[in-house]
Amino acid sequence: MMPGGVNSPVRAFKGVGGTPVYFARAKGSRLTDADGKDYIDYMSSWGAIILGHAHPAITEAVTRAAENGTSFGAPHEGEVRLAREVLDRKRKIERVRFVNSGTEAALAVVRLVRAATGRNKVIKFEGNYHGAIDPLLAKAGSGVATFGLPDSAGVPESTTANTLPARYNDLDHVRQIFEANAGEVAAVMVEPVAGNMGLVPPAADFLPGLRSLCDRYDALLVLDEVMTGFRVARGGASERFAVSPDLIMMGKVIGGGLPVGAYGGRRDLMEMIAPLGPVYQAGTLSGNPLAMAAGYAALSELTDDAYVSLEATGERLQRGLILACEAARVPAQIQRVGSMISVFFTEMPVRDFADAQTTDRALFGKLFHGLLSRGVYLPPSALESWFLTTAHTDADIDLTVEAFEEALREAA
Ligand code: PLP
Repeated sequence: MMPGGVNSPVRAFKGVGGTPVYFARAKGSRLTDADGKDYIDYMSSWGAIILGHAHPAITEAVTRAAENGTSFGAPHEGEVRLAREVLDRKRKIERVRFVNSGTEAALAVVRLVRAATGRNKVIKFEGNYHGAIDPLLAKAGSGVATFGLPDSAGVPESTTANTLPARYNDLDHVRQIFEANAGEVAAVMVEPVAGNMGLVPPAADFLPGLRSLCDRYDALLVLDEVMTGFRVARGGASERFAVSPDLIMMGKVIGGGLPVGAYGGRRDLMEMIAPLGPVYQAGTLSGNPLAMAAGYAALSELTDDAYVSLEATGERLQRGLILACEAARVPAQIQRVGSMISVFFTEMPVRDFADAQTTDRALFGKLFHGLLSRGVYLPPSALESWFLTTAHTDADIDLTVEAFEEALREAA
């Protein structure tokens, strides 16, 4: 009834082979499938879940909100509460607007940077994914990379003509692109920690270098924090890596598992958005009361201690996986930033999309199924990040490492 039996492509297991599992419910760190089998979940709804599934604070907030009406299509207090929390955590953001997905945030931001600068070109990075929007489906990561497609069919060349793909972590390449397109680049859009080609951390000079290049060439810096926002630190990647963007895109964690996206940034830029300015952007369900309540409940639970705990759990998993690969004599790079982690079966640290593609996908496919049968659910692709939550216990991690050791021995 649905193409591939799914409503988003990577879910179909095309990257790992086999038939997708259908889930019935989830609680804490566990997913339960339609046959009643439990899995320790490392997909965490592609990063949207950070407190574990069905967290009581979120369930209660959503239930209470639903009792008061599922949608108003008009302003309400829940939006203000979440906006205040976002602005408080992200000091660089002066204004925010809520939308329904990261994709929608990207749509609005591309329009806004073009309107604000009077320029059309946007630099993006190979292997970075900013949602399924036409102009940015050029050298995109996530599903597009899983399927080995450079672009999507149905995207006219004229639509990506103004998209300039650069190598991740390569400031010289970005500089060359700026030089070759003098006075034409509106913005650089970047995943501050790349999560859509597997997990690739920014090199120490990368984000500050992008800020300086944008300043030098009068372009705007956009951080796509749809994955990293409120996950890699209380204030997201802009806080963790001390970088000041002009605009930020958000999603996933700010919806607490409900459909939400957001974009925000400098007041002068955000005031170009309708109704204050000429840049049109709108949404029937934007600022939906259930989504706002879930997001606010999630952020309220994300105390400083929660980030300390996410870091410790991530470190424990990383250490376990490194030891397991060493014991099995399988060359691997276990890359991690906070609670985002992934395993590349390759010899050298992965710094960009070309490196990421050297990972042994066949081995990953076997490992994936070995873990699945042992009750561990990974994102079904070699080029995706795994996500931890505050509900993952040390015991979960130890069980996972044990299963990983066995599955790797079987697969390698
Ligand atoms: N930006 C990044 C960095 C993402 O990881 C994603 C989704 O995975 C998006 C944008 C698109 O968000 P959504 O799937 O909510 O449209």
